[in-house]
Amino acid sequence: MIPRLRPPFGLLDLATALASADVCSVSLFERRFAERFGFTDAVYFPYGRSGVHALLLALGMKSRSVLNPSYGCIVVPHAVLLSGNRVHFVDSTAEHFLPSAREWAGALMRETAVAVITPLFGYPVERAGIEAAIRECAPECFVLYDVAQGFDAFDERGSQLPGGHAALFSFGIGKMLSTLYGGMLTLRDARLAAGVRAMRDLYSPATRLHKFELLTYGIAVWAAFRQPMFAIADLLERRTNWLGRFTTEYYATDIPRLPRDFQVAPTPLQAALGLRQLARYETIATERARLGAIYEQRLRAGGVRTFAHAHRPTWSIYPLAVRQRERAVELLGQEGVQVGTLVNYACADLPGYEPWAGRCPYSSLWGASTINLPNWPGLGARAVEHIADRLLRLRDRHPDVFAWPGAQAAR
Ligand SMILES: *Cc1c(COP(=O)(O)O)cnc(C)c1O
Repeated sequence: MIPRLRPPFGLLDLATALASADVCSVSLFERRFAERFGFTDAVYFPYGRSGVHALLLALGMKSRSVLNPSYGCIVVPHAVLLSGNRVHFVDSTAEHFLPSAREWAGALMRETAVAVITPLFGYPVERAGIEAAIRECAPECFVLYDVAQGFDAFDERGSQLPGGHAALFSFGIGKMLSTLYGGMLTLRDARLAAGVRAMRDLYSPATRLHKFELLTYGIAVWAAFRQPMFAIADLLERRTNWLGRFTTEYYATDIPRLPRDFQVAPTPLQAALGLRQLARYETIATERARLGAIYEQRLRAGGVRTFAHAHRPTWSIYPLAVRQRERAVELLGQEGVQVGTLVNYACADLPGYEPWAGRCPYSSLWGASTINLPNWPGLGARAVEHIADRLLRLRDRHPDVFAWPGAQAAR
């Protein structure tokens, strides 16, 4: 069984992090991270969403409009809503999960205070067009790049991160780097960074019990992705919805809420774990992109339509749209390939956002039709080629299951 994802740390990393963690780990992690991604400051948070919440408070925003892609991670709108601000959604297009510059131009308004731009899975956004739309429709708005999932995205001008006043990264399980839970907000303005840091410094310190829970969680996650433990975790997920409950808890798809520990300071152990992986970041990112490119090449050569991109994505995850998602997951599972669909990415249709339900039809389409193929480092090119070949064979046998879903969206 090939798991969909694997955490980028091992038991040795956990043990070393535990041994090397000290009071300086958090500030060192922040400094190194800011440097690596070209920002002047970085503030480490217990979750990425905590960073969004703290940012809006530090900006002094109340009852303001925050524009978010509907196809994305629901925890960002939750953080916006629970900071006392209003969420507006921008839809995907008929061709792509990313909103195009036209969608942005149509959704931006004078009163848009913040635009959250999300190069999801490392697919570049139409930066020049979006920036032009912002200049025209909402020149004062604060631009936050949500790269929680992709960590970077590139176009002909290089990294897209310089397009934002700030950027959000997440270190949950399944992200490019993982510190069990955690997130980083990187900033350019020193005064704002000081304000954000002051918010974070108000968080309650982690208790011993909390630290112990984090460590056991780390060991459990590591164990769950080992064979044959993975088979057990997989069984639990499919037969008992045990992991399903975990993801509902984590992603809060039932009601807008934040985790009860979203304002508990991240620990030095987590920062030390982050530092270890940051040193390997180039290797991790290169390998994910390389494996993604193999899917891209094989699937396109085999006549499968894939998501278009103007520049090669970083492919933190490899997304593929299929017409009958549940059936596709089942068929791939029978071939020993676990693909992900766990997160409902059509935010506008989720509880808590009822006025938006059905108003972002293309994000609903992609939210219901996208699967993620495994491309974690360590999987290897051979395994990826093998998965692509199996997928192509399944497509030959079940052409309507694996067809591109776009044609239906027109109606
Ligand atoms: C995971 C993720 C987040 C949230 O990060 P947390 O650390 O879970 O709060 C935000 N945006 C995107 C696109 C994500 O994938």
